[in-house]
Amino acid sequence: MTEVGFNWARNLQYSAGRLLQPRSVEELQGEVAASPRLRAVGSRHSFNTIADTDGDLVSLAGLPRVFELDESARTVTIDAGTRYGELAEALQARGFALQNMASLPHITVVGSVATGTHGSGDRNPPLSHAVREVEIVLADGSLRTFVRGEEDFAGAVVNLGALGVVTRVTLDVVPSFELRQDVYDGISWDGVLESFEQLTSAAYSVSLFTRWTGETFGHAWLKTARADGAEAPAELLGRPALDYNIGLAEGPAEAATEQTGVWGSWDARLPHFRMNFTPSNGTELQSEYLLPREHAVEAMRRLRALGDRIQPHLMVSEIRTMAADDQWLSPAYGRQTVGFHFTWRQHTEEVTALLPVLEEQLGDLQARPHWGKLFSATNLAALYPRFDDFRSLAERLDPEGVFHNDFLRRTLLRERPVS
Ligand SMILES: Cc1cc2nc3c(=O)[nH]c(=O)nc-3n(C[C@H](O)[C@H](O)[C@H](O)COP(=O)(O)OP(=O)(O)OC[C@H]3O[C@@H](n4cnc5c(N)ncnc54)[C@H](O)[C@@H]3O)c2cc1C
Repeated sequence: MTEVGFNWARNLQYSAGRLLQPRSVEELQGEVAASPRLRAVGSRHSFNTIADTDGDLVSLAGLPRVFELDESARTVTIDAGTRYGELAEALQARGFALQNMASLPHITVVGSVATGTHGSGDRNPPLSHAVREVEIVLADGSLRTFVRGEEDFAGAVVNLGALGVVTRVTLDVVPSFELRQDVYDGISWDGVLESFEQLTSAAYSVSLFTRWTGETFGHAWLKTARADGAEAPAELLGRPALDYNIGLAEGPAEAATEQTGVWGSWDARLPHFRMNFTPSNGTELQSEYLLPREHAVEAMRRLRALGDRIQPHLMVSEIRTMAADDQWLSPAYGRQTVGFHFTWRQHTEEVTALLPVLEEQLGDLQARPHWGKLFSATNLAALYPRFDDFRSLAERLDPEGVFHNDFLRRTLLRERPVS
């Protein structure tokens, strides 16, 4: 039998009894209908137990590839095994693009949108915003398609794997565009705290990297779109753009996408990492908290005050912004958002002890933890105005709890009366 195996970072061994790898949607429907407990897994890049189950784990990597581009409707339909990198290459070859991508192209589209994955950009919502239709095998094995605008659609995309097994999604696409990347190192803390709004609006997508300690803040990574008619600034907060490529999270520069202001297509610039290299570090853990953007500066001050406690366990932190959206469990639901990300050393015990400290600091700033990364909070209902609607949807679509797991029991599900 195929081994169930580990997640990407190998900080978690899945506890499922079997790994199912259906070759067709019909085969998958039969497996779901026959299984008392099952979860889908994507490319395994989540750091927590969100994808785990004590029943069957199902991977859709072996489903026939679907790539249906509708140029006039500006949509593309893909199967659930498709990774962003493959999709981006195929779209670029046809003159189309995605509005945004995460830091890496290795992740599946379906697994990413299920956890509210995002990139950066004041005007770019999380990636789930691009989803127009989602097709799901429900607990009884039937197929249902949720279409944008219909009731329940806003609950069906950022779904935590709790509604069923997604087989296909249809996404909005835009005409292909060019980007350049420029990195400015050694920017000052005062500059970042005083000019946060100007900084994050300085390009199509902006990432700020810091280690929270030290005299200077760190570096800013700007992705400038040719379509905006803008050029990248020669200097940012008095610092010139670097004339060499850098790596991230202690990884080599070759693993990162091309910087130094060279214009090129969006697919090779929107992610920080290249498809054929290990993204980020590999031996790591990650956490991220998403806050209303008006709390950005206050959150930075509080995290900086914890710098000495964070520093021994941190490779790097990344600060990104995103536009508000309307998906019930999206990190940006109903609010312009700022995300504080932590790439940790694989110091599991120390990081586990530190997370409640960070969460206490950020708690009154309405910090939503990233669904696919490590966090300790369990009481999340107050953070999402439509939380109960999602719970009700999950209960309606999965009354027997086929897709329940410990992660959902801890974070989402209502306690059931013991019968
Ligand atoms: C190096 C690295 C960089 C990252 N960068 C970013 C970033 O820039 N921005 C960001 O927001 N996040 C980032 N992440 C987090 C990552 O985007 C999420 O963990 C994402 O969910 C990973 O997608 P996946 O396909 O690996 O999903 P998995 O981890 O395999 O699964 C995630 C969830 O999706 C569900 N799922 C998967 N497939 C299906 C399906 N077919 N049907 C139903 N449910 C399904 C699973 O059950 C689970 O609940 C990063 C992670 C790593 C390791």
